[in-house]
Formats: sequence, structure tokens, C-alpha cells
Amino acid sequence: MSTIQENLINVQDLILKFANLTHRKAKDIQLLAVSKTKPVDQIIEAYNAGQRAFGESYAKEAELKINEIRSLGYSDIVWHFIGPIQSNKTKIIAENFDVVESLDRLKIAKRLSEQRPKELSPLKVLIQVNISCEPQKSGCDFEEIDEIAEYVRSTDNLKLIGLMGVAENTTETDEITAQFKKLQKKFNEMKALDQNIDVLSMGMTGDMEEAIACGSTEIRIGTAIFGAREYHNSPAGA
Ligand SMILES: *Cc1c(COP(=O)(O)O)cnc(C)c1O
Repeated sequence: MSTIQENLINVQDLILKFANLTHRKAKDIQLLAVSKTKPVDQIIEAYNAGQRAFGESYAKEAELKINEIRSLGYSDIVWHFIGPIQSNKTKIIAENFDVVESLDRLKIAKRLSEQRPKELSPLKVLIQVNISCEPQKSGCDFEEIDEIAEYVRSTDNLKLIGLMGVAENTTETDEITAQFKKLQKKFNEMKALDQNIDVLSMGMTGDMEEAIACGSTEIRIGTAIFGAREYHNSPAGA
């Protein structure tokens, strides 16, 4: 068995364990494999182990890898964009991805809507919220969610399906839990009013237990599947 295959099994076991701890069902927690900076052959290795949803953070790098993987005949992968979005990268994202999790500005929403090709289904969107309130972090403030959500709902080219958050990188688990709980509360309020809202994307390699305890429906895992990332220069096309 390959290392990536073993790692995927281990992560699925952890999902089951953490779900059981809070009386949740493991099937209600999707695994997004975060393959940023990782080569195509490792993505295919994960695919061959049954993984179908992949997350990428750098538009240029992702476009190259997605095209290569499509040209090899893999057509049932679901690609999620999870990185910060610069205006000049919205076209690549609108044309190549199925889901965008890192929408945090109206201007970017408008560009994604305009640039989504008509022959594709609506681009699924999660609004990223800066739950740690650290100034250097991506994500909108809680007060900005409703305005962005209203715009996304108004355009046929986008479909709002949920919220995404990245907790502070800290060993203080109480702090992480407090940040996730705040997002969970907003998610539950929105879900009660909109039947399309069903994805709460929270949790990474270091905080998946807390995220699952706070109702996460999708964890985004890179390191625990593919190993640590190496950034030789600046990542391609970041
Ligand atoms: C890189 C990244 C991840 C994966 O983080 P790991 O700690 O490697 O699991 C998850 N979410 C976002 C938004 C990321 O940028």
C-alpha cells in the first residue's frame, strides 16, 4: 500500500473517531484533500485510493495541474479553490474550478460571476470568514457576510452553498473552539433560511478534532495526506 493511501485511511479513521466523540456520523463530514504544491502523480495516487475532492490554493499552479490531469482522462474530480483570490486570477478560477471556498469580497464575486462560462454549471461558492480576526488572514468580517451572500444569490452563475473559516494557528484549543463555534452559529442561522446552504468548511490537519466537534461538514487536509509542504521559491503563480 502506498503512503498516500495509508494516510487517507488514517485520516478517515480519525474522522470516524472524532465524529463518534460528539455523536455525529462520519458520512456527514467530507474530506477535501489539499494538494497545493504537490505534483500530479501524488494527486493521481490519492485518486487511485478513492479520493475525488481536491483543494488548490494557487491559481496558475492549479490550472496547469488540472489541465494535465484532465488530459489524462480523469473527469470525475471535484476541484475546490481555497486560496486568497487576486482579481487577475478570477478568470482561471471561474473556468477551471467546481467550488470556490475563499470568496471574501463583492468585487471578486462579481468577476467570478461574469467570467463563469455559460456552458458550465453554476460555480459553487463558500464565503470565507476571518474567524481568527488576525489582520493578515483572508476572509471577510462577520458583518460583511450578508451583503456578499445577497449578491451571490442574485446571480445565476454562482450558487451559495456555505461558509469557510481558518482558525488561528495556536495550541490553545479553547481559542480554536471559540472561533469555530462562532462560524457554526452563523452557518446554522443561514442554513435555517436557505436550503442550498449545507457546507461548513472548517478544520485542517492540526485542528480537525475541534472542527468536527463544532459541526464541520468538510475538513481540508493537506499535511496529513501528502506530508509537509516545501516551498522552494515562491509558489508558482501565487
Ligand atoms: C493549506 C491549507 C489547508 C491544509 O492545511 P494542512 O495543515 O496541511 O492540513 C487547509 N485550508 C486552507 C485554506 C489552506 O490554505
